Amino acid sequence: MTEELLLTGNLQEASKKAIQWLINRKPIKNLIDWGISFSLWPPHLTTSCCGTEFGAFAAARFDAERFGVLPFSSARQTNLLVIEGTLTRKMARAAKIVYDQMPEPKWVIAMGACSLEGGIFWNSYNTVLPSEIGIPVDIYAPGCPTRPEALARAIITLQKRIRSNQTVKAKSA
Ligand code: SF4
Repeated sequence: MTEELLLTGNLQEASKKAIQWLINRKPIKNLIDWGISFSLWPPHLTTSCCGTEFGAFAAARFDAERFGVLPFSSARQTNLLVIEGTLTRKMARAAKIVYDQMPEPKWVIAMGACSLEGGIFWNSYNTVLPSEIGIPVDIYAPGCPTRPEALARAIITLQKRIRSNQTVKAKSA
């Protein structure tokens, strides 16, 4: 069904409504989603030893930038949180603050057995899972550690989901 555009209110409100309507048209939305899928910027946040694999993924051999993934220092300019392995209670607080600072739309990849189900720290008193602190995970990349190739696969899968509007947030919206 085609969504109708009804322009009411003052000029500013009407123009905002018109821009939003135009952005949500399929060809333009597809183009925006395509652009976003190749502009995934994760913040620098290393939670555990899987972080070294993420480092390898970002370095010359695997070259994360060719996937459009550019690690960035400010959380407010990022859109992809990568939970790199174990999340201790202390780091969980930092991860949640970073996640909350990131603007929408944003996505989460959890890598390593530790972020899936606890891994070798599954019964530890001081580790938590991303879901336990309100961080919704879009893609899980298993392994201990998760190899850079597996992370590349997770990125490609996320990109496909963004382009087809099938991420966690798209489903819950
Ligand atoms: S999955 Fe393995 S490599 Fe990754 S954080 Fe856990 S123990 Fe470390």
